[in-house]
Amino acid sequence: MPPEPHSTLRLDIDVDALVRNWRTLDRMSGSAKAGAAVKADAYGVGVDTAVPALRDAGCKAFFVAHSSEAATVCAHVPPDRVAVLHGPATADDVSAMRAIGALPVINSISQAARWSVGGGGPCHLMIDTGINRLGIAMSEIGDPAIAALEVSTVLSHLASADEDSTQNLQQLALAREAFVHFPDAAKSLANSAGIALGPQYHFDLTRPGLSLYGGKPRQELTAHIAQVVRPRAAIMQTRTIGAGDSVGYNGTFTATEPTRTGIVSLGYADGFLRCWSGAGTLLHDGRSLPLLGRVSMDMVVVDLTAAPELGEGDWLEIPYDLPEASKMSGLSQYELLTILGNRFAR
Ligand SMILES: *Cc1c(COP(=O)(O)O)cnc(C)c1O
Repeated sequence: MPPEPHSTLRLDIDVDALVRNWRTLDRMSGSAKAGAAVKADAYGVGVDTAVPALRDAGCKAFFVAHSSEAATVCAHVPPDRVAVLHGPATADDVSAMRAIGALPVINSISQAARWSVGGGGPCHLMIDTGINRLGIAMSEIGDPAIAALEVSTVLSHLASADEDSTQNLQQLALAREAFVHFPDAAKSLANSAGIALGPQYHFDLTRPGLSLYGGKPRQELTAHIAQVVRPRAAIMQTRTIGAGDSVGYNGTFTATEPTRTGIVSLGYADGFLRCWSGAGTLLHDGRSLPLLGRVSMDMVVVDLTAAPELGEGDWLEIPYDLPEASKMSGLSQYELLTILGNRFAR
């Protein structure tokens, strides 16, 4: 066997923190049970890492967006516990979901008809209460195509749960009105931020995603949610530049004195975007190493003045406390998680 290629990027996942976050969100959900949004490869954490851990902690409902994402989740949990949020797009998609055993979330009259024509059986139903993305309208609840469904869970989704917006109460009122029509179905409204809005938002099942992975969309969550994702990148080379030397494309940084620098294996192709240029720092043992010049596709340069002993092969931490990193980069906490590329060894 040839040796494995050496990795200079790694994503350390704190699985204990992930499990603690789920337990916290489950407890905060009161009499409701917490599920887990595991779409987009569990927000970049990796389905094969996140799903078995959440399953073993007691999580029983898993949400993906695309039907193509269902199979990897179903490898770890009973397929009927996996819900496909985008619903069935075609008749073939219905067959594919039935073959896997995952349940669609029906989002329209046409999806309802498509599911029934394909054989029907248990499914979930999304009702739009104001986000105006997917879901049937309030006025469509009485449609015969909807009445024909065997609805296991009836859902709606909050648009502004991360803010103290009047839209939250408006959506809550509409969700209550809609849910009455499905007395036998489980009811679900809250995402991570929605859990923090209070017990009236919890119903039977909550659907946290972001906060499982360390995101804190509301103040109420900040003390209770732990960091899960810690990206690290290795130094590939060091050099000492002189006063007047510039660094990187377009020479946007120029040294005013001799400076020892580290060339780090991390770039915008890995999800470390140019918005970090100038503002960002990497970390070593709590010491802050400022970025010099532009972020390139595959590398960045840091100032090693604060950590003179570091050299080739040493690992630096990318500051990824999500609210802080969001403030620094201008990216949302969701984007910061899902953007990390596949050159990170997970
Ligand atoms: C992504 C998603 C969630 C999870 O939301 P977070 O804000 O990440 O907690 C819940 N419900 C639906 C319908 C979603 O699309």
